[in-house]
Amino acid sequence: MKPPDPATLPKYLSEEAAAWELLERLRWPEGKIVCPHCGVIDAAHYFIGARSGERKTRTGAITYRRLWRCRECRKQFSVLVGTIFESSKIPVSKWLLAMWMSNAGKNGVSALELQRHLGIAYQSAWFMAHRLREGMTRKPLATLLTGAIVSDECQGTPRIA
Ligand SMILES: [Zn+2]
Repeated sequence: MKPPDPATLPKYLSEEAAAWELLERLRWPEGKIVCPHCGVIDAAHYFIGARSGERKTRTGAITYRRLWRCRECRKQFSVLVGTIFESSKIPVSKWLLAMWMSNAGKNGVSALELQRHLGIAYQSAWFMAHRLREGMTRKPLATLLTGAIVSDECQGTPRIA
């Protein structure tokens, strides 16, 4: 497989902030944010992250994780809760790139290819390959991924069958 050319990639595959916002738009269309803890739908759940999507963690590192707080149950959540991306330290943009790669090849993508093209440890790459295969068969994530692949910002990219 040829390495992806960053110049021709959609913005959300290379920019972490754009990747987060895309996932939120896909998971919560029309801004109807659903609390994954209690299921309350409220466009006015509190947004905790900075407007740009960038925040500093306690250790001073920049994170793009966009956090929300539920008006009803008061718990914090992000768009990743309940998805195959949850509880991994891998950036969302790399997940989207891995999904894109796994659809560019006929037989999906191997952990070795992910390791090489995303510049990540083999262990992370193996984890991603495993989760991606699992995610392709699952609803509603399968629907979510289809949405990501056929979105109009992503012309000419193969869709998930
Ligand atoms: Zn809630």
